[in-house]
Amino acid sequence: MEKPIGRFAPTPSGELHAGNLLCALLAYLSVKRRGGKFLVRIEDLDGARCPASASQRVLEMLRRLGLESDEPPLWQSKRLAAYGKAEETLRRKATVYPCFCTRAELHAAEAPRQHDGGVLYAGTCRNLLPEQIQALSAKRKPCVRIAVPAMRISFTDGLAGRITQNLATECGDFILRRSDGVYAYQLAVVADDGESGITEIVRGIDLLTSTPRQIWLQRLLGFATPTYYHIPLVCDADGRKLSKREGDSAARLLERYTPEQILGALAYACGLLPQARPATLAELVDGFAWSKVHKDRIVLPERFIG
Ligand code: GLU
Repeated sequence: MEKPIGRFAPTPSGELHAGNLLCALLAYLSVKRRGGKFLVRIEDLDGARCPASASQRVLEMLRRLGLESDEPPLWQSKRLAAYGKAEETLRRKATVYPCFCTRAELHAAEAPRQHDGGVLYAGTCRNLLPEQIQALSAKRKPCVRIAVPAMRISFTDGLAGRITQNLATECGDFILRRSDGVYAYQLAVVADDGESGITEIVRGIDLLTSTPRQIWLQRLLGFATPTYYHIPLVCDADGRKLSKREGDSAARLLERYTPEQILGALAYACGLLPQARPATLAELVDGFAWSKVHKDRIVLPERFIG
């Protein structure tokens, strides 16, 4: 059987929190248990929000925990040519169009909604005539959208189970490139995972609803669909969702605890250890099985919250 290739793909827009570390740990353990490869990718496409110093802090933190990339980390900011090529391919295979809608237009009260309350793009700019595009281009810079078909995409998540989404009614035409020229996460993530040969993706449950559109893009770009594990919400002992706020930062954990204490507490929180105690990466690799990992909520032990 082919060796699995997993990845951890943080956005260095702030400090990592314990939930991010847990994703990195599970991505690592899952592939290492089967002798596979673990890769790190820095999702720093939005240069304004992701200073280089933050990326270095993320890499240093992973290094201290032993969660190092088996290959030099990939930096999204250096892969713009690859995203341009992917966009070209998508232009050939689907309908890709400029969208001039303003924020206010997109969020208008009558805008159709997604299940989670987000706005479903109404398709306003999908059929603009060339002369309309020209006139609007003189006024503002468009973003680039891709028109989704009325198609249901299904996949089985290793933790969340069977997921089905109708692209037209639950996702809508989505953005490939922002009006400031920055490539969208949805395009970059598919190009990167595909070109890196990623076979499994471990990430937070907040990205579950992005997965069907990413699977659709994989099909258009000729990439195989990896296996997915979406990690449930990670809370502190009071049930509060972790955030990239300072108090939850992984850096603070590393000031207070040893790497083994952190690894052990994370492993305990997600079900891999019966009690919170220091643990080495090697022993966690040996004992790893997805069947042990909690499928609903993951609560961090009290003593661990920095
Ligand atoms: N960069 C994303 C984040 O930090 C994760 C992307 C992914 O794992 O697909 O939330």
